[in-house]
Amino acid sequence: LTQRQSPARSASGLAQPLGHASLRRANLALVLRHLREEGSCSRADIADSTGLHRATVSNLMAELLERGLVREVGTERAGAIGRPRRAVALDGAHVGALGMEINVDYIAVHGTDLSGRVLVERRIGFDAMGQGPDRSLAELGRVTRRVIGDMKRAGASPGGIVVGVPGLVDSGRGVVALAPNLGWHGLPLADRLREELGGLQVPVTVDNDANLAALAEYTSGVAAGTSDMVSLTGEVGVGGGIIVGGRLLRGADGFSGEVGHLPVDPGGSRCGCGRVGCWETKVGFAALVRSATPDQAYGQDTGHGAAPTPDPEERVREIARGIADGDERTMGAVAEVGRWLGLGGSILVNLFNPRVIVIGGYFARLAEQLIPPAQAELEQFVIAGPAARCRFMASNLGFGAASRGAASMVVDHIMDDPTAIGSAPVAHNIAGQRI
Ligand SMILES: [Zn+2]
Repeated sequence: LTQRQSPARSASGLAQPLGHASLRRANLALVLRHLREEGSCSRADIADSTGLHRATVSNLMAELLERGLVREVGTERAGAIGRPRRAVALDGAHVGALGMEINVDYIAVHGTDLSGRVLVERRIGFDAMGQGPDRSLAELGRVTRRVIGDMKRAGASPGGIVVGVPGLVDSGRGVVALAPNLGWHGLPLADRLREELGGLQVPVTVDNDANLAALAEYTSGVAAGTSDMVSLTGEVGVGGGIIVGGRLLRGADGFSGEVGHLPVDPGGSRCGCGRVGCWETKVGFAALVRSATPDQAYGQDTGHGAAPTPDPEERVREIARGIADGDERTMGAVAEVGRWLGLGGSILVNLFNPRVIVIGGYFARLAEQLIPPAQAELEQFVIAGPAARCRFMASNLGFGAASRGAASMVVDHIMDDPTAIGSAPVAHNIAGQRI
């Protein structure tokens, strides 16, 4: 899904030779990715498979060993004859990948080591919209510092952090251009988080939450590997990650997938973006809560102040209880969201012809009630009719999809540039102090 390529080969195809450092970086990445795909291999096998000279592989391996990204795993006998050869495998147990997500009412964390082993997974109810950017950044910094401490105690120092945000993100500069449901505008999130982390030298990248969720769905979700799919986040806002031909569609400025602001009802209610009748005013979680439980204040024009913010799971459980109790208002509200979900989905099918629309966040929790009316509406409005076989599927990654995708993006960054990881891994004692 990410721009995967075999760097050494593409380098050889360039008219301009790469500089020594970037060629070495590309070859290190090539060897690491090979080990990730093949498991343990001997140096000779790696040389044969990658087309690199054996001496080059030995040399690269020395650097990867020094950086703690690979380890010797005993011997491997090649065929019946010949002496046993020492095999190497991807290690990276001491290298952490920290994925974070800050959304309207929670902060989610997913920390793994380089092999994908989950070290930390957490979601904290937090009113990012009511608290404003400064206090939200302070809280994000506090949570990040604590999680880094937890990961270090588990033996891994983060080699990178990716933060998902529900809005338009200038990924190259780490700036949130606009996050309407958080009230953020032109916020240099990457720089500000680095400040919050003090002297910690960890690369920080910012990306759109729906893109990160799509990355997680594509690599490990219910429709993993489906080359044409759309994944929808079901939060207060609704974002789309659009995968076309196995690639994430980003658009000219990286701002594609803002499906929550498709204007579906010109006579409708006001959206967090200031416009009227956006799709998320029909299917966003705040819209559902407002129509199912109108006595509860929730949405873009309320601030929760200092009161503890319920985790979205808690709010979904309330809705699910209403359904189980046969509450007519709740059931009517959910069915209405289902119909609007199908109508908006049909626009996406007419545009992108996906095989699957994966619905995440709260949509997934209420999928049993949402999918039948959504699927019926979809089939009515898709111009190709049954010929465009597309079905809604509930995500099994829940509210953690974006942070999980963020962690896998960190792993990809490290695989692309292993030299970003400092050599000589720093050991830590149980209290997280350097030893
Ligand atoms: Zn809008």
